[in-house]
Order: sequence, then C-alpha cells, then structure tokens
Amino acid sequence: MRAMVTEALKRKVEKLREEIEYHNYRYYILDQPEIPDAQYDCMMRELEELEGKYPELRSPNSPTQRVGAPPLESFEIVRHTLPMLSLANAFDENEAKDFDRRVKKILASPGDVAYVAEPKLDGLAVELVYEGGHFIVGATRGDGVNGENITQNLRTLKTLPLQLIRMEIPVPDRLEVRGEVIIKLDKFKELNRKREEAGEAPFANPRNAAAGSVRQLDPKITRRRPLEIYFYGVGEVAGRTFKTHWEILQTFPKWGLRINPHIRRCQNIEEVLDYYREMNEKRENLPYEIDGIVIKVDRLDFQTGLGEIARSPRWALAFKFAPKQETTRIMDIIVQVGRTGALTPVAVMEPVRLGGVEVSRATLHNQDEIDRLDVRVGDTVIVQRAGDVIPDVVQVIPSKRKGTEKKFRMPSECPVCGSEVVKEEVICRCIGLDCPAQLKGRIKHFASKRAMDIEGLGVKLIDQLVARGLVKDVADLYYIKRDELMALERMAEKSAQNIIDALEKSKTKPLGKFLFALGILHVGETTAEDLSRTFPRLDDFFRLSEEDLVKVEGIGPEVSASVVQFFRDKKNRESIQRLKKAGIKLIEPRVKEKGDLAGKTFVFTGTLKSCGRDEARNLVESLGGITASSVSKKVDFMVAGEDPGAKYDKARELGIRVLSEEEFKQMIE
Ligand SMILES: [Zn+2]
Repeated sequence: MRAMVTEALKRKVEKLREEIEYHNYRYYILDQPEIPDAQYDCMMRELEELEGKYPELRSPNSPTQRVGAPPLESFEIVRHTLPMLSLANAFDENEAKDFDRRVKKILASPGDVAYVAEPKLDGLAVELVYEGGHFIVGATRGDGVNGENITQNLRTLKTLPLQLIRMEIPVPDRLEVRGEVIIKLDKFKELNRKREEAGEAPFANPRNAAAGSVRQLDPKITRRRPLEIYFYGVGEVAGRTFKTHWEILQTFPKWGLRINPHIRRCQNIEEVLDYYREMNEKRENLPYEIDGIVIKVDRLDFQTGLGEIARSPRWALAFKFAPKQETTRIMDIIVQVGRTGALTPVAVMEPVRLGGVEVSRATLHNQDEIDRLDVRVGDTVIVQRAGDVIPDVVQVIPSKRKGTEKKFRMPSECPVCGSEVVKEEVICRCIGLDCPAQLKGRIKHFASKRAMDIEGLGVKLIDQLVARGLVKDVADLYYIKRDELMALERMAEKSAQNIIDALEKSKTKPLGKFLFALGILHVGETTAEDLSRTFPRLDDFFRLSEEDLVKVEGIGPEVSASVVQFFRDKKNRESIQRLKKAGIKLIEPRVKEKGDLAGKTFVFTGTLKSCGRDEARNLVESLGGITASSVSKKVDFMVAGEDPGAKYDKARELGIRVLSEEEFKQMIE
C-alpha cells in the first residue's frame, strides 16, 4: 500500500518549494547565491523525488515544472481585470513639460508633483496573476482588454517566481502584476547566430524575438529562448493597499519580483528631464534595448484623481528618445543565396551614418516584407538600427517619389545558378543541387570554427576552389592536392602546406561537431550535440526514423523530418562515405553499455570537480545504476566530492563504501 500524504509532508513540500524559489531569486535575479549549487541541486532532487512518490503533491507551480508543458493547439483568451492601457507619448522636452502642466492643473496642485521614472523596455508587456502567492495565470497584453493565455510559457522563465517569497512581508490574496518580457542584446545576437547556422530566418530585433518566443505554442521552445522579465506595475491587488507607485516597486523585490535597477523617484519634472538625458546617454551601454523612459505620477490617490482619457491613463507618459533612424535612398535591391538555398533580398543604399557607424546595406528579409513596406528601387526610405544588427528599412517616404522607382520581385530563378526557386511560407529557396552559392555557403559553414574548424579556409579561397571545380562537395576538401592549391592565386608553397595541415588536423572531431558541420536544416550546434549524445554512432543516423528522433529532449517534428531527409538523400550518403574514406575520425560520446552498474544505488555529496552533479547522475543512470538523494542502507556507493556534507558521516556510520571522485571515474570508465 502506498504511504499516505500527511499534513506534515504537505508542509515539507511547500517549504521546499518556497526555499527553492528564494534561492532562484538570489541566483537568477540578485546574482548573489547564498548556498552552493550542489545544495540547491540537492533540494531540487528531494522535491522531485517527493513529487514522484506522491503524485497528489504535484503542482504546476512547482519549480520542478519549469521544463515546459506539452504544446497547445491555440491560446485561450484571458480578460484583464483592469485593462492594460496604452501610454500617451511625448517626443521632446516641451511635450513632457506640457504633460506636467496638465497634471498639475487637473490636480489643482500649486506645488511640484513627484514622478517615478523608469527605462521603457522594448519587449512584450504581460500580466501575471498570483493567488495566495502562487502564480495562477499569465497573459499577453493583447488589445489591452483581452490577452492570450501564455501561462505555460511564462513558467519557463527563471526570472519569474512561481511562488512569491513571503519571508519578509505577507503576500496579497490576489496580485495582478505587470511586467515586460525581454531578450538581452548579447543573448539576442547569440540566438540569431544559432538560427542562421541552423538555416533558419533570423529575428529582426530583440522585441520580435521576445514576442515570438513568448507566443510559442510549444513551451519547450520558449524554454530554450533567453527570456527575462522585469516587473513595473500592478493591476488589481486584493489584500494589501499602497500609497505610492514607488512603494509598490520597493515591495516587489521582497516578494521575489525583479524590478529594473535604473528606476528613480523624481521630485518634479525638472528631475525627470535630467533622468531622461542621463538615460539617453546610457542607453548605448545598457544590456537591453530601451526606446525611452516611462514616467508615472507617484501618488496613487493622484493617479485615481487623474483618471484616463481615450484609453490612456492621464497619470503616465511614454517619453521617447529620438530613434537611431536616418533617411537615405535605395539604389538597388540584390539577392543573396545562403547555404540552405534561402534567398534574402538586401537593399543597397547610399551610405549613411547611423548610431555612429556608416551603413550601406539593409536587410529586407523577404518578399512579404517588401510588399508590406511597398519599397521600390530608387525610393527614399527611413532606416533604423537596433543594437548592432543589420539595419532595417522602417518605412518609405512616398512624397519623395519621382515616378521612376521600380518595383522589386523576388526572382523565380536563382540569380547564381539559374535553378527554379520555390516558396516555402515566406522564404524563397533555390532548389538547385549544384548551386555554387549554396555550395560555397556549405563549405564556409563546414570549415567554420565551431564546426570542423579548418584554419585558413576563408571566403576567397572557397570562391576559387568552387570556381575551378576543385570542390563540388565538402568531402572534396580532403582530396585536394598540394599542387592544385599552389596553382591558385595568392597561394605559395607554405600557405598551401598550411591548408593541407589544417585539413589533416580537422579530421578528428567529436560526432556532435561533425553533425553540425554537415549543415542539416534546423540542426544548430546545440541540437547536433543533443543528437550525438543520444545516438553516439554516425551509422545510427542512416537508420533513424522520425519517431526515434522526436523522443529526444528538445527535438521537434521539424528537426526530425529534416534529419531523416538528410540522411536518406543519396548524395549526402555518398558524401559522408567519402568523408569517412578520407580518414575522418569521429570521437563518439561515451558508449553507454547498460548493465555495468545495474541495480547499484549511488548517492553524491560535496562538489565534483570534473562534472556537474546532474551529469554524474545521468551517467550513473545511463549505465543502469540508480541514484538517491539521501543516505540509507539501500545505498551501495557514496561519491564524495570536495567539502562533503553530513551525508558523508552518515554513510560512514552505515558502512557504505565511499568513493573519491577519481575512484568513481575509474569505475564508470
Ligand atoms: Zn542557386
């Protein structure tokens, strides 16, 4: 019979969750962890075990549930208790002063009105509902009245507490809290790099990336995106009253809700203007994009008195910065062909300085975007640069048209090889099998640092190799002779030898890198790594079905189909055979031989030097062993790392065999 769930047990689980949330907050938000990672892992493990043992104790708000729920068919609609209003805008200091005058006039206030000023984050506005301190539902702003239920996705954000911390002050019965989901600039660039490497279309800017990631039907995809949240306001609050907006913001961190570090209380509009100038200077150095500041009348009774007009509160203002925009002319639209055959239209512009850099090209993304903007060759346009990414065309200025502008259509034939172009959703692709543009892209990717890492094989050399027909497929690289290289431009004996050496050196690679190097559509670095760990032998891939692949964590149907298709292709199979014949040596991840540790129970204590504890546990389990979080007579081995805890003494007492990290490593090898 299964053990009963006692009140004490319930409280224990509840307490564990709260503690984990608290340490999450210390770690992810304050960046000031109080306990070693190992101890945190241990708490997490204990919670997982309890929830595993007593399913009735499971809760969607448990920190163990951040991994992401199954995909949805569509989003439900959530009605906001209080509408999420849009803010009125000001574009210069005079407009901000006008706003202040209106506020004083309506309030009949002879003196200064205090404001809270904060950076206006460029992300996606969301509202979260907490009941009794538990995260219940989260929604997008939507049209302000109705939003989309994105609870499952928001749960995957590590900067979002699933339970409010109640250690310092009590939590309200119901708290509707509002915030902005963002992606930091460095993470955005990284995300786009990975997408491009996987042959996927990059996001236009961090805001699009954040919005696109939050509105994913599959929470597992959301979980892999580097989303963060900052909280900045409330909707309805039951069970607690506040006097000022500043007080609300100062209370948030005590509940574990992150606030932006740059918020400031300003005594009057003059201080707001100072803040605005200061932030305008700082914005280039902030880790995320901001497009202005938001100011709010601090006193809540004043806010009530001011009310709203035309769906905008009269007590708040979005005070925008002058955008990093410029006007220029489009001289031409050219088409680039990538390694997956995707055609990207690029605007060639009269050079213009934008955010301190001279730019002459802007991406137009695809035909749909060109149609939406109605951009034509010869048009005068406004271009904008977000972060350090390639500039975007924001809009056309039709009044500058002379009538000589030419409309642009994506070609129906590849501009490089003349093959047919097919349209898949918004992307046009060249389907030519021998397209030199695709081949060059594939070689460049194959040789890149994170793939086969062939030093010295740059774009100019690749151009020559392809032009002379020396390389028709990546496998040909390993069959080039030194004499052939020396016959190329700018290639002396020494440099030719260097390339030969670099090729030789690149032959030994982990399977994951090799899979990535092949340039399979949708298979980026991480996915390739995941695949290699589950299927450690290259030959396995020729036999895998889509069903086998979707079982792998983080691999969806799109990736599965793409992998199967790639390895079924005759040309690809031949290419891989020739690579093997050329002497490619793949380092297979540790071959799992189930049964080595069959039935043996392991427990870990202290810090392991060579690998994380999760990794060590996975290893044990992959070899048929069992892992436990606490010491009992059932445990066969204890692995003791540095600074072992109380478990160590208990293991000694029970006469359990204690292994050092070294001994453990020998055992599993
Ligand atoms: Zn082509």
